[in-house]
Amino acid sequence: MKGYVSSIQSMGTLDGPGVRFVAFLQGCNLNCGCCHNPETKAFSGGTEYSAKEIAEKCEKYKSYFGKTGGITLSGGEPLVQAGFSKEIFKECKNRGIHTCLDTSGSILNNDVFTLLNVTDYVLLDIKYHTEELYKQYVGCSLSAPLEFLKVLNEKSIPTVLRQVIIPTLNDNKESMAFLKGLKEQYACVQKIELLPFKKICQTKYDNLGIPFPFKDFETPSPNKIKELEQM
Ligand code: SF4
Repeated sequence: MKGYVSSIQSMGTLDGPGVRFVAFLQGCNLNCGCCHNPETKAFSGGTEYSAKEIAEKCEKYKSYFGKTGGITLSGGEPLVQAGFSKEIFKECKNRGIHTCLDTSGSILNNDVFTLLNVTDYVLLDIKYHTEELYKQYVGCSLSAPLEFLKVLNEKSIPTVLRQVIIPTLNDNKESMAFLKGLKEQYACVQKIELLPFKKICQTKYDNLGIPFPFKDFETPSPNKIKELEQM
């Protein structure tokens, strides 16, 4: 099976446990104002690979993965190419490689269900705590990732909830209480990661000739992140 990949990072340390081979798949169904990978959003473009080719590339780095590392599929949105993602994970699991999905959790279909059967770990974005913010700044309903989380819990897949902190939108106690509530409600949630909003992607938008929707939002201070983590 073939699919489209925007880029590959052979040894990443930010997207899942341990050292990871990260494939950023092409295409995304959402439209986040804070998106830091705008080059991955188009449904066309990217480089064509077979699932086996990706797994073989990944396998070359297996000795660096140790006990916790492996492959992460990110994007874009890997659920857009769920069939391809599933085949990559199957090939990787046949090679004894741990599989992690980095997703917004906004698509649930048969391909996604079978993908989750070969997924060891999930990084799930919970971008905001209200339906209004999801509708305005993401392009789907908040119920989509919540439904996805329910499925992850039913399948007992270890999950990290991640939120990019954007001052004035979600740097508040309501958002932290919402995340904390999800952790308490779902046993699959291992931890919550708060990531500071950054604007280093501005050059990507400039190169693409499109405006960065969140260019006027501030980046949060390290102290603010610490304060929210306490909450
Ligand atoms: S889900 Fe990710 S890739 Fe898609 S628009 Fe949002 S931030 Fe960008």
